[in-house]
Amino acid sequence: MTENQVYQQLRGHLAALRMTAAAEALPAELDHARTAQLSHTAFLERLLALEVTAAHARRQASLARFACLPAPWQIADFDFDAQPSVDRKLVRELATLRFLEDATNVLLIGPPGVGKTMLAVGLGHAAVAAGYRTYYTTAADLVARCHKAAIEGRWATTMRFFAGPRLLIVDEVGYLPMPAEGAAALFQVITQRYLKGAIALTTNLGIASWGKIFDVPMVAAAMLDRLLHRSVVLNITGESYRMRAHRARASKLRGGDGAR
Ligand code: ADP
Ligand code: MG
Repeated sequence: MTENQVYQQLRGHLAALRMTAAAEALPAELDHARTAQLSHTAFLERLLALEVTAAHARRQASLARFACLPAPWQIADFDFDAQPSVDRKLVRELATLRFLEDATNVLLIGPPGVGKTMLAVGLGHAAVAAGYRTYYTTAADLVARCHKAAIEGRWATTMRFFAGPRLLIVDEVGYLPMPAEGAAALFQVITQRYLKGAIALTTNLGIASWGKIFDVPMVAAAMLDRLLHRSVVLNITGESYRMRAHRARASKLRGGDGAR
């Protein structure tokens, strides 16, 4: 076989193995190996390292797309000084993602604008970066999706979908009243994941008022029971971050020294 035929065979192998990064880099890497007089081992290591890096990047990109996180917010961007009711140590501990290992749920409770979604999304980005399958949904979307699935005969598939991610973020529970059917869907998702996969859930309703969002108080009680059994609860009591920023700006315009 001529050198060129061997080269073409090698291209074929790389294509068959879907090693596109290595295939693309092959000519340049061969040139480099010749000029730098690399050993066979060193050349092969460089070529495969390229592919490993590319495969990792592809996986990360796919995890990030799958997660559907609605904003780029990171835990590191959270201003703890603005929200003294948030326990920094607890959030730092959560950011280590150990809670994903034992399927601990994270409940973020508080009024609008205090950073519940920001913290949940920040945990989501950390989980994606660490290679965990993550999925973000609002409670309303989850319920709508389950409703559609039930009509179209895809209930079981949809339940499996929500059982799959290592971290499921359910945002905005309680903002909209939930009909019995919706509560049943959320209940089943929570039950399926119980002790198996972590849920980060945000809600504007204190635990005591959970009965009010759901038509059937028993369902609310059972849901809470499972959610809280192994959980971390962050009760955020401060004022809205947007309002605070707005007030600080207004105060500055008036010549004051900001809101604090
Ligand atoms: P919630 O989900 O509690 O209604 P969000 O997480 O959506 O609130 O926060 C509202 C806005 O304020 C977002 O733009 C968010 O980034 C910002 N924000 C809230 N709390 C903080 C904080 N402590 N530090 C930095 N930004 C914050
Ligand atoms: Mg929110």
